[in-house]
Amino acid sequence: MTSGPPAPIDLRSDTITTPDDAMRTAMSGAEVGDNVIDSDPTIVSLEERAADMLGMEAALWTPSGTMANLIALSLHLQRGDRFLAPRGAHVLTNELGSAAWLAGGMPDPLDHDAGPGRPTPATVRAAAGPPNGPYYTLRTTLLSLENTHNAAGGAITPPEEHAQLVATARDCGLNVHLDGARLWNAAAALDLPPAALTVGVDSVSACLSKGLGAPVGSVVAGDAEFVERARRMRQMLGGGVRQGGVLAAAGLVALDRVEELERDHANARALAAGLGELGWDVEAPRTNILLAAVPDVALALERLRSKGILALPMAGKVRFVLHRDVSDDDVEEALRRLKEERG
Ligand SMILES: *Cc1c(COP(=O)(O)O)cnc(C)c1O
Repeated sequence: MTSGPPAPIDLRSDTITTPDDAMRTAMSGAEVGDNVIDSDPTIVSLEERAADMLGMEAALWTPSGTMANLIALSLHLQRGDRFLAPRGAHVLTNELGSAAWLAGGMPDPLDHDAGPGRPTPATVRAAAGPPNGPYYTLRTTLLSLENTHNAAGGAITPPEEHAQLVATARDCGLNVHLDGARLWNAAAALDLPPAALTVGVDSVSACLSKGLGAPVGSVVAGDAEFVERARRMRQMLGGGVRQGGVLAAAGLVALDRVEELERDHANARALAAGLGELGWDVEAPRTNILLAAVPDVALALERLRSKGILALPMAGKVRFVLHRDVSDDDVEEALRRLKEERG
């Protein structure tokens, strides 16, 4: 019936989600002020709501998750410090080294010996070393966790393991930052409030512009003193946005949608099951990210593209991300296209 290439099914990332009508309406009606000179009421509402959901005293809106992480790491680290993060963490591999060259910390990747995305407390302890080494040695001062862990396939750190890691870090004299870009996904998958996954951390970042569908925006949260310092750092980095309420309004709508992420998780499981039947080597997804091991990633991505399915490489595999702009029918259609290829 139709000719030409089919409309692509875009599974590259949950960052491609576009604001829907409800979100655009909220944005167009947002009350705004100058958030650098004094304050923007919609940004303030968003920050209060995000802090509450994350179980932190205060929160700060940022234009991106990368900036949220950079602010936190800059406040936690000094030159001559080392920080620990699970191997493949976004702060290690996807932020152009800014944790080292702007925040000033020497990165030390930790093996995922407790399971995908997470080190054991023993590994944290061994890497942290003794708290008071000689003056000429690096001081390990920070553990930066990631939940869900993107490059480990949207892997969840459950609350008990999180608590053990935080307790070990404390025991070793480390601060703890949590990159919770997709913390909402972990919370939805575990059917827990997001605050249950931030217990004991000094700071947490979280994205509004991924699965929750806002076009722009993240938050970084901590205690009130941390957030005041973070506000100055955000200004230094050029992240003070004047009438940002237009963007924060989208974030407020996004925060109403945490529970809806479960639909994306169900779609990830359906896609994994279907791919498995077609002979793909896929890991069972815990959230909205699915990794497939293939002999040649570039070739696999090209074949997918020729069938109108878009994905990205991640950690030496093909990564598919399910999100609110991909329907149940799109998943079935993607599998149908792949079946055709095989036949
Ligand atoms: C996407 C992501 C970020 C950064 O968010 P941006 O808004 O794209 O800068 C940080 N950490 C993790 C784990 C991410 O997946």
